[in-house]
Amino acid sequence: MVGRRAIQLGFSATVGIIHDGGGQLRPLGERERGVYHEMKALENRHFARLNFFQDAIALGQPNDWRCRAGARYMYICEDGLVHYCSQQRGYPAIPLEEYTVADIRREYLTEKSCAPHCTVSCVHQVSIFDSWRAPQHPAPTPVASRASGLVQIE
Ligand code: SF4
Repeated sequence: MVGRRAIQLGFSATVGIIHDGGGQLRPLGERERGVYHEMKALENRHFARLNFFQDAIALGQPNDWRCRAGARYMYICEDGLVHYCSQQRGYPAIPLEEYTVADIRREYLTEKSCAPHCTVSCVHQVSIFDSWRAPQHPAPTPVASRASGLVQIE
């Protein structure tokens, strides 16, 4: 197995569960679940702590978490627009030079409807630090997207 060999050579090894084009859960089959658990057992415990959300994903279950995309995490595209993440390109799609602290504060508190079945690990990881504070709410006034397409969030 690649993971075992990597550890023998002194590297760290982690496992990530693939998401579909919308950043959403793709249920694992029995064989894939077995590989996932085998790899988890080899993982560095510090990584394992940040990736615990994947346990629910492996079982095809939703996660209860607060996605801080647009605040703690931003995806900036080739056009210089700020989006939630690679899977939700198209929103809020504000040019980086115009993205203000007010935008960051709004998105920090905005509930993302795609969160329960999201598998975007880097956003999960960076959102853990605020998991216990600042409950989120649906966006009060949706921001008009300036992207020409690709808006996926509802
Ligand atoms: S929950 Fe957050 S990170 Fe996941 S797809 Fe939605 S906006 Fe992106």
